[in-house]
Amino acid sequence: MPEGTVIFTLCDKCGEETPHRILKGRIGATPESGFDGTVQCISCKSIHHANFPVERPVKVNSVISNKEVSEKKLIEFGPIEEVMVGEELFWESHNLLVTAIEQKGRRVRKAKASDIDCLWLKYFDSVLVKVAVVRGSNTRSERVEATPDEEFAVGDILEFGREKVVIDKIKTEYRMVHRDGVPVEARDIKRVYAKIINERRY
Ligand SMILES: [Zn+2]
Repeated sequence: MPEGTVIFTLCDKCGEETPHRILKGRIGATPESGFDGTVQCISCKSIHHANFPVERPVKVNSVISNKEVSEKKLIEFGPIEEVMVGEELFWESHNLLVTAIEQKGRRVRKAKASDIDCLWLKYFDSVLVKVAVVRGSNTRSERVEATPDEEFAVGDILEFGREKVVIDKIKTEYRMVHRDGVPVEARDIKRVYAKIINERRY
C-alpha cells in the first residue's frame, strides 16, 4: 500500500470508520504483523497510528466499456481500499475511469472495495477534446484525440487538415483559462475555443 493510498479504518475522533490517507507505513515482515504506519483521517484531519491485519485482495466484478462494447472483468483491489466515481485506475497497462459503483443494489459515489457489488469503468487511454473554431460570427466544432494528461494552453497552435488555429481560451469544469501558457490537462477540458490564423491566400 503506497503512501497516498486511501483506506477505510476506525478514527477515534470521528468514532467511526472513515477514509484515511496513508502518510507513511509498511507491511510487516510476516502477514500476521499486518500494516503498521501513520494515517490521516480525511474527515477530521487528525493523524494517528494504525495497525491492522492485511487481508487478501478482493476481486471486484467490473464492467469495462470501450465505446459501444462492454466486457466483464474481475479487478483486484486491497479489501479496505476505497474506490470513487471519477477516479482513474491503472489496470493491465490501460488507464481506466470509474464511471459508477453499485453497492447493495444502489449507486454510490464511493465504497470500500470489499463492499462493491459491481464497478463500471471505461477505457480512458485517450479523450476527445472538443474544439470550437470561431471564424467571425461562425463557430464550428472539431475534436482532437489526446491522452488524458496531454497539456493544452492558450496560444498553442492546432491543425485541422490544412487549417491552422490558435487556442484563445480553455473552458474547464470550474473556470475559463485566458492566460497564455497556463497548461490544462486534456482530462480537465470541457471545451477549447480557437481562432483561425489568418493566412494570405493566393
Ligand atoms: Zn476522523
